[in-house]
Amino acid sequence: MADFADELRRGASDLRPASVDDVRAAVQAARQQGWKLHPVSTDCNWGYGAGLALPPGHRRLDLSHMRSIRNADAISLAQPVAVVEPGVTQGQLQTFLATAHPGLTFNVTGSARETSLIGNALDRGVGYLGPRRDDLFGLEVVTGTGEVIQTGFRRLGEDSPLAHSHPFGLGPMLDGLFFQANFGIVTSACFRLLPRPPQQLAVSLALYRAADLPRFIDVLAALKRERVMTSVTHVGNQARTRASLLHGISDYLERACGLGGAARDAAAQQALRVVAPHEWTSLGGISGTADQVAAALKEVRRRMQGLARVTSFDDAKLAKGFALLHRLRRVPWARANAAAIAAIRPLNGLAAGVPTDAAIQNLLWRFGRADLPAEQLLTSDCGVLFISPALPMDGAFVTDVVAGMTALAGEAGQVLYVTINIETENSLVAVVNLLFNRANAAEAAQAADCARRLHAYIRSRGLEVYRARADMMADIVDADSPYWQAVGALKRSLDPDQIIAPGRYNIC
Ligand SMILES: Cc1cc2nc3c(=O)[nH]c(=O)nc-3n(C[C@H](O)[C@H](O)[C@H](O)COP(=O)(O)OP(=O)(O)OC[C@H]3O[C@@H](n4cnc5c(N)ncnc54)[C@H](O)[C@@H]3O)c2cc1C
Repeated sequence: MADFADELRRGASDLRPASVDDVRAAVQAARQQGWKLHPVSTDCNWGYGAGLALPPGHRRLDLSHMRSIRNADAISLAQPVAVVEPGVTQGQLQTFLATAHPGLTFNVTGSARETSLIGNALDRGVGYLGPRRDDLFGLEVVTGTGEVIQTGFRRLGEDSPLAHSHPFGLGPMLDGLFFQANFGIVTSACFRLLPRPPQQLAVSLALYRAADLPRFIDVLAALKRERVMTSVTHVGNQARTRASLLHGISDYLERACGLGGAARDAAAQQALRVVAPHEWTSLGGISGTADQVAAALKEVRRRMQGLARVTSFDDAKLAKGFALLHRLRRVPWARANAAAIAAIRPLNGLAAGVPTDAAIQNLLWRFGRADLPAEQLLTSDCGVLFISPALPMDGAFVTDVVAGMTALAGEAGQVLYVTINIETENSLVAVVNLLFNRANAAEAAQAADCARRLHAYIRSRGLEVYRARADMMADIVDADSPYWQAVGALKRSLDPDQIIAPGRYNIC
C-alpha cells in the first residue's frame, strides 16, 4: 500500500494497485487530480487496442498485480467456480487446476497463456468452448465514485451460499453494464469451471469444394444447435490455417529433420497440404462418455459425407501417430505428416483446457522475433488489426459477407485471415484480421485504411463488429440515438466525473 500511495503521490503514468482499497484510492485521486483511468487486466488485447499511447492526463490502471484466486481452498468438483482477480491469467488457472483439481477444466482462448480471464471476458472474448462472457458472473466493481458494488447474489456477502453459485441474482442483472463498457473497474469476479469430460475428441473437417461453404456452415450450425458438436467449431480459410501452422511445421522440420532454406520451405508446403488441402478447414470438438462421443462422431461423419473429409483425434492418438511418423521421417510423406502433427498438438490441447502461446509465437516467428516471449508481442514489428463481424447463422449470407470482405481486402493488396467461429446456437462471428509490419509507416497506413473500408462494408450490410477497436468507436456511437443516450445516462450515474476513461469503448 505504501508503494501504491507513492505512485499516486507522484502521479505515475502506470498505476499498479495490489488491492481493492488501492483501486478505490486511485479513483479518489483521479477525481481530485482530474485524471482519467484506463483499467487493464493483463493488457494483451492485441489487434483490439493493446499498446495504444494514452493522451496527456490519462493513467493506465494496471490490475495485473491483483493475481489472487480468492476462494482457492473452497473450489471442488461440487463447487466449480473460481473467484478470480483481474491479474489471474489463463495459464495460472490451468496450472492451479492441474495440481489441485485435475478433474476440473475451463474455457480457454487461443491467445497467450499470460492473458487474463477477466479482461478477456469483459471484452466479450471467445474461448474454445464458447463466449467467455458466459463464464463470468458475480462481479465486484469499483465505480467512478469509489463505491464498491457486487452484482448478482454476491451482494448478499461472500459468506452467502448463493454468492459464488447462482449466476443471475434477483432483479435487474447489472453484470451486462460492465462488459465492453467503461462504467466501473472490475476487481474480482466468479469464473465458471467445468468438469473434465470422460472423453474428448477433436474433429477436423476439410471442405472439399469452396462452393459448398454455405451448406457446410448450415450443417455445422445444425450440429451445434442439436448439441452434437458442443465446442466452438473454427472454420479457417487457407490463409489463416496455413499462417497458424507454419511456425510449428517449420520448427519441426528444422529441429527434428535438420532442414533449412528451400528444402525446409518445400517440405513445409507438403505438410500444409496434409492439413489444409482445400480453401476451408475446420477444427471442433466432441465430448462426453465414450458412447456419446462415438455416436456423435458417427453423426458428424454421416452429415459430412461428400462435403468434407473428417479426421478425428485425441492426445493419445496424436502421440502414437507422431511417434511412428517421427521414426519414419526420412520418408517425405511420413515427415510431412509428423510435421503437421507437431504443429497441431498444442492447438489440440485447447480442447482439453490447456492454453498455449503457439498462436502468438507464430506471429513473433513470422516477424523475425522468435526469441521473444509471447507477452512481448508489442515489442516486435508485428501489426495486427481485427475487424470481426457478428453474423447470423445463415450459411449463404455469411459466405457472401466474407466474400465481400475478402474481395475488398484483395483490391487493397491485403491478405485477409478469416476464421468463421460457430459460436452460439443462433449466431457466429467471423474473426478477421490484417497483418502488417508496424515499423513500416506506409504499410501500417494501408492496413488501417483497409480496416476502415472493411468496417464500412460490414455496416453497409446492416451488421456490426462483435468487438471494437478504439478507432472504430466514432463510427459506432450515434450520440443522438435513444440507445446511446440511455447508455450515456447510465455512464453518468455510475461515473459522474467521467474518470474511467473512454478506453476502447468511448461511452460518455
Ligand atoms: C494471434 C492471436 C490470437 C488471439 N486469440 C484470441 C482468442 O482465441 N479469443 C479471444 O477472445 N481473443 C483472442 N485474441 C485477442 C486478445 O489477445 C485476447 O482477447 C486477450 O485475452 C485480451 O487481453 P487481456 O486478457 O490482457 O485483456 P485486457 O487487455 O486487460 O482487457 C481488455 C479490455 O477490457 C477492459 N478491461 C480489462 N480489465 C478490466 C477491468 N478489470 N475492469 C474494467 N475494464 C477492464 C479494458 O477496456 C481493456 O482494454 C488473440 C489475439 C491474437 C494476436
